[in-house]
Amino acid sequence: MNHEDLNHWSKRAADWSRDYHASLRQRPVRAPLTPGAISSQLPTTPPEMAESMDSIFADFERIVPPGITHWQHPRFFAYFPANASPASMLAEQLANAIAAQGMLWQTSPAVTEIEQVMISWLAQALGLPADFTGTIHDSATTATLSAVLTMREVALAHQGNLTGLSGQPRLRIYASAQTHSSVDKSVRVAGIGQENLIKIATDATYAMDPAALAAAIADDRAAGHLPAGVVLCAGGTSIGAFDRIAECIAVAHDAGLPVHVDAAWAGSAMICPEFRVLWDGIQDADSIVFNPHKWLGAQFDCAVQFLKNPAPQIKTLGLRPRYLETAGREEIVNFNEWTVPLGRRFRALKLWFTLRAYGLEGLRQRIRNHVAWARESCEALRALPGVRIATEPRLSLFTFALKDDALTEALLNKINDDGRIYLTQTQHDGAYVIRVQVGQFDCLREDVIQVASVVRELMR
Ligand SMILES: *Cc1c(COP(=O)(O)O)cnc(C)c1O
Repeated sequence: MNHEDLNHWSKRAADWSRDYHASLRQRPVRAPLTPGAISSQLPTTPPEMAESMDSIFADFERIVPPGITHWQHPRFFAYFPANASPASMLAEQLANAIAAQGMLWQTSPAVTEIEQVMISWLAQALGLPADFTGTIHDSATTATLSAVLTMREVALAHQGNLTGLSGQPRLRIYASAQTHSSVDKSVRVAGIGQENLIKIATDATYAMDPAALAAAIADDRAAGHLPAGVVLCAGGTSIGAFDRIAECIAVAHDAGLPVHVDAAWAGSAMICPEFRVLWDGIQDADSIVFNPHKWLGAQFDCAVQFLKNPAPQIKTLGLRPRYLETAGREEIVNFNEWTVPLGRRFRALKLWFTLRAYGLEGLRQRIRNHVAWARESCEALRALPGVRIATEPRLSLFTFALKDDALTEALLNKINDDGRIYLTQTQHDGAYVIRVQVGQFDCLREDVIQVASVVRELMR
């Protein structure tokens, strides 16, 4: 395989991609397989001799698509979306061809500078003040880990990195039970410990109770612990819960604590001004993460972290050994110093292509449609005898259940074995409930209204 062959096979791959996307509505959304079905088709030992691309490509076409759960299927209503707009796919092809490693400004100035401009464009698109800068991570988990590590180091006056955590007071991080498990993972990885992630009580709307937050911080201080920061939830994964951002930030800042807001899913919706009331007060956050790779159309991986002041995070994560110095340009932005990994892909290119190819207005229209169709679908389900709407739509996410957990779980299995739509479950208020989220980039109203008709048919 050489670069001439690559040219030939890239065209073949482009044709395959077009046909694949055109065929999605005819495929079951979730791969209807048992474990081992794919691995058993591969030789158990690696090839000694080169094989022809004809046979490699033929095996790809035969083995891989049946083992794929089709995230770009217009009737994918599970988890949250992982949208890949065609413009983003094209940008990824070009980034693949360039294959640059953007750890320093000088290792590819375009990687760093386009990333800086995209962060600025996105801050404007979401209605954030111009004083936010930021960077692109692989995932929201990495962004949240970076924020938590920074909280730890600021609380310890940057001694944790030097001397470790033994002998230090117990650090405390605060979040509600509606925040994503990536917050739990972050406190574990950061050495703070699960027991020191204090889950603050929520109110009737599943939003963090600001008075309970204030009390928990005061109690911890009285007990000799070291409060380090607050993680707020703007669109939780389970049911789409939103903390009361303005009030909770006021409590945290009064106590001298920084705030990181996890808006991994819902952040994309904030390109629509009418939804911004949901995260009212966001301009005062110290750090915000949102995933354009979820709802905006820049394909995985693309998680944006906005930072009010990047200096504490750079001081926490940045290292500059001799071999990473850029002589004469000590002040230049080297994005590896803002993140955990050293190496970084050219992720900004797909944002640039996507934002230009659809325009904010085109992207807003998609999100508004998804929200409207989710509400319509919720009403159609509510009208079905035996169906209980467990949580009302938050943006484009709602949940429903049948009379008891066993019936609900059996229905979900039937739905996903059927394959026309794909839904997933969560636990809410002690009950097993089915999540419906609408957000695939190419989905149409006729795809979404199938949710209620499939449920009606399979409930019988
Ligand atoms: C998806 C999600 C995450 C985790 O995202 P990754 O990018 O996969 O790490 C975190 N928080 C929320 C609210 C999410 O929806």
